[in-house]
Amino acid sequence: MALLETDGLVKEFGGLVATDDVNLTVNEDERVSIIGPNGAGKSTLINLITRRLDPTEGDIRFKGESIVKMEPHEVVQRGVSKSFQTASIFPDLTVRENAEIAALAAERGSFGFDFLTHRRKLHGVHEVAADTLDAVGLLDRAETPAEDLPYGDKRRLEIGIALASEPDLLLMDEPTAGMSPEETRSTVDLIEEVKERMGLTFVLVEHDMEIVFSISDRIVVLNRGRVIAEGTPDEIRGDEQVQEAYLGG
Ligand code: ADP
Ligand code: MG
Repeated sequence: MALLETDGLVKEFGGLVATDDVNLTVNEDERVSIIGPNGAGKSTLINLITRRLDPTEGDIRFKGESIVKMEPHEVVQRGVSKSFQTASIFPDLTVRENAEIAALAAERGSFGFDFLTHRRKLHGVHEVAADTLDAVGLLDRAETPAEDLPYGDKRRLEIGIALASEPDLLLMDEPTAGMSPEETRSTVDLIEEVKERMGLTFVLVEHDMEIVFSISDRIVVLNRGRVIAEGTPDEIRGDEQVQEAYLGG
């Protein structure tokens, strides 16, 4: 069974069709990149999956369950997380507190009133937060207020916040946008590290082809809202239609 499936996903903004009958499948442990020119509908697709946008038509299933009518936080609780939203950081809280809040927010099930259960869950949250900070290399900065972190570490914290919810699927929309080549390299290294360490399934929207070709198991090419090609990096590299539409011949 696919981890994520979109079925005939259409999103219209007024008369504009931003995604047009998109059938996207992501299997467990798969790394899928979505590429395509500006305005192709990549961000719209991601925002439909996180339920920030309502589709005009179509269904979205996660682990076989339709999530298309759910609230965004219900989707997070089921294991879908989106990274690289600077807005996800609470600047005046410490790095550790940020990770704990993220872990807590995604805690599956409810807290209830049983004190021992509550304590156990809280302990779990501390552990998950510490493991996550370790994974993104921020454990030694745990007590630093997030706003005092240098830019690169802030980006690491954003990834940490997404990972602290222990997602089964991580969505990333242009994670390296606005970064220097050096910061880009270190972010890609971090994604690679986390991918090795946690066996992460992700969907990545990225314009840097070098990154896309090096990091993906499968690439989906969008153009004007439609999937025009799909395949392994080698297949996409050799696809004439993609060359024409996107890679500039
Ligand atoms: P991409 O991320 O591939 O650059 P987007 O998904 O952001 O593309 O946009 C796809 C199309 O939908 C574009 O033509 C864009 O202008 C339009 N669009 C995106 N969001 C909105 C919105 N909230 N309202 C109206 N049009 C939108
Ligand atoms: Mg976009």
